[in-house]
Formats: sequence, structure tokens, C-alpha cells
Amino acid sequence: MKQAIVYHEDYNKYDLGVDHPLIGDKPKKIMAYLKDKSLLSEFQVFTPKKATETDLLKVHTTPYVEHIKKLSETGGWLSEDTPAPKGIFEIASLAAGGSICAGEKLFEGFQIAVNPLGGFHHASKGHSSGFCFFNDIAIAIEFLREHHHLKRFMIIDVDVHHGNGTQDIYIDDHSVLNLSFHQDGRTLYPGTGGVETLGREDAAGYTINLPFPPGTGGESYLKAFKEIVPPVTRQFKPDIIVYQSGVDTHHVDPLADLNLTYQTYYHLAKQVADLSRNTCDKLLVLLGGGYNSVACIKSYYNVICGLLGKQDYLEEGDIPDTDPEAVRHVISQLKTSLSEYWTL
Ligand SMILES: [Zn+2]
Repeated sequence: MKQAIVYHEDYNKYDLGVDHPLIGDKPKKIMAYLKDKSLLSEFQVFTPKKATETDLLKVHTTPYVEHIKKLSETGGWLSEDTPAPKGIFEIASLAAGGSICAGEKLFEGFQIAVNPLGGFHHASKGHSSGFCFFNDIAIAIEFLREHHHLKRFMIIDVDVHHGNGTQDIYIDDHSVLNLSFHQDGRTLYPGTGGVETLGREDAAGYTINLPFPPGTGGESYLKAFKEIVPPVTRQFKPDIIVYQSGVDTHHVDPLADLNLTYQTYYHLAKQVADLSRNTCDKLLVLLGGGYNSVACIKSYYNVICGLLGKQDYLEEGDIPDTDPEAVRHVISQLKTSLSEYWTL
């Protein structure tokens, strides 16, 4: 068996309250759906441990980690949109430990490893918001960098929100190629991720942002993905690919305004899995955002189908772009900027 998934009962305690958009028992629902569809048997399941403070501190500042610990004792608020329930330090450490554990499996003979409670890309070194406490993407990368002496990391983040925390962490680091496709920050939290943000100094060209206008449909999204991601990946030659496969780009998602459909997730995941197979053969998958309780589970199912190349994925009618001219414009803008660094 070449696929691993990590899961812990306590994952379902990552719950920010009944009135909060985050679905607290999402990991349990994902596992149940995969089991129901006979896909869970394609994976070996592992139980993760909490990330240690040493792991957290490779990415976050000491005052920030202490702040989360304190909030976790009393309960409170990390930011306006992110309540900090009691015990969140342990649960957020467990989520980060899940991404480390999944990453480790890629060095034990697995080609794909999934953490259903991963992809907390809004957490920066010393501050955070957007339902994120610890940046498990960077925590896993730094763990693997140290323990397996990796040199080139590629992040493909397709969550509808820009991965601003991950970008803050790696904006100066040319060992991490950080690619984010998201809804235009002028129309959605966190407001960052403009096409002109390309990385600083010798890391210029290693931050890639594609901000789609609201109303972008799956067909244009996939076309842009095909034109940009495979050539860049082949030239960068990553040692590992981290795929933040958020599905809050779905047309019914309550938090955003892109119009992707179920089949988009299948095709995206399939391309990412093919890219991994043809380069490093190590794919760490963090399931990321998704806030419609029915659509997100089906969308994650399609992500898994795409990773495994299973043909019985779900389909629905495609939705055309609301403003195709604006979509074409931003894609060509990005391609022009990138041509200084990559051959597209
Ligand atoms: Zn999101």
C-alpha cells in the first residue's frame, strides 16, 4: 500500500463553537465518507502525536507560542474571527503533529500521505487569524528539512483564501517555491496575494500568486493550473510537494465566491499526483478549508479520487466564468511576470 492517512479522535476537538463557520467534526465526517465509499481501505491509517514545542518553535516565535498556551488555559480570542477555546494549544499541536507524521510516512515508502486536519496557512511566525493557530505546512517542512536533509520544497495551495502566513514565512526563502491560487484579495480575506508579490531578493520568482476574480469557474481555473504549475514544477525539481487542497473554492461555499465544481477537485488532485510521481514521488496532502458541510465532504472525496486516479468521482454541471475577460487578464499578467524566472 502506497498511501497513508493520519487521523486522531481528538482531531474533532478542533472546534471553534457552534456559531463558527469551521466544521468541528469534519475529520470524522471525511473518514466516514471515505469508508462508506470503500476508499479508506486504499490507505494505511496512522495515529499522529502532538508536535513538540521544539517543532513549533522552528517556525513560530517564543512569545507567540506562549500566547497560544496562555489563551488555551483560559479560553479567549486569538483574533476577531478566531476564538481560542480551552485546550486549543494541545489540539493545534496535534494538527501540526499530524502533518509531521504524514510527512514522515513519505520517507517510509509511502508516495502520498494525507492529513485531514492540515493546511493552516494563515498562521504567520508571530501572529495569526483565519481559524489558524500553528502553520502546520511550515512546521512539517522544517521538520523534514532537518531530519531528511531536503533542499527544495514546493507548496501548491489551492484554498480559496491566500496563504498569507505561509507567504510571510517563506517570502525570502528560495528553497521553498510557494504557489497559491486563490480568490482576489481585494474581494476576500486576508486581502493579500496580489499577482505582483513574487518573493524578495534572491527568492524572487519563488512566491507565485494567482488571484482569481470572484465568479471564476473550474474550466478557467484548470486551464491556468495546467499552463503554470507543471512547467514550474519540472524546472524547480522539488524534493517534496505539499498540496494544500482546500475546497472552499466550491460554488456553494458560504465564505467565498469562486465557482469550482466537484470535478475540478478530481482533475486538480490528479494533476498534482501526476506531477509528484514524475518528480519527487513524495506528496503531502493537507485537506485545508471547506465550509459547506455537504459540499466540502464530497469535494474532499473527489480530491482523494484524483490522488488515486479513481474514475468514480462525483460530477455536476460546469459553471462558466462571470467575467472571462478579467480571468484571462490576470492569468496573462502572471505569466508575463513569471517569464523573468521560469520558462512557461
Ligand atoms: Zn480557506
